Amino acid sequence: MSDTIDGFRDLKELRRVQRLVFGVPCPVCRKKLPKAHPKILEPGRLCRAHKPFYRDPRPEPTAEEFNEKMAAHGWHQEVKSQAEIELGISGYHEDGSPY
Ligand SMILES: [Zn+2]
Repeated sequence: MSDTIDGFRDLKELRRVQRLVFGVPCPVCRKKLPKAHPKILEPGRLCRAHKPFYRDPRPEPTAEEFNEKMAAHGWHQEVKSQAEIELGISGYHEDGSPY
């Protein structure tokens, strides 16, 4: 099962880099909650820190865009399939939301 552990470690690093590459501070947080740290939103992510909620309007990157941008940040892991890329981005919700 050591593969699983390594996989998790890689995934954690992948998400950290993803956040760096694709994350932008929520503009509504900046406006409504100027004293709080704005939530970092990746494409399509929902911010629930205020109402109405704010969804990042950007589409999720394509596999090509993803690889290109991640490679620019020193991420060299080979991506095996489109499904894995989608899971890697959409599967992560720091606030536990399904969106
Ligand atoms: Zn927000």
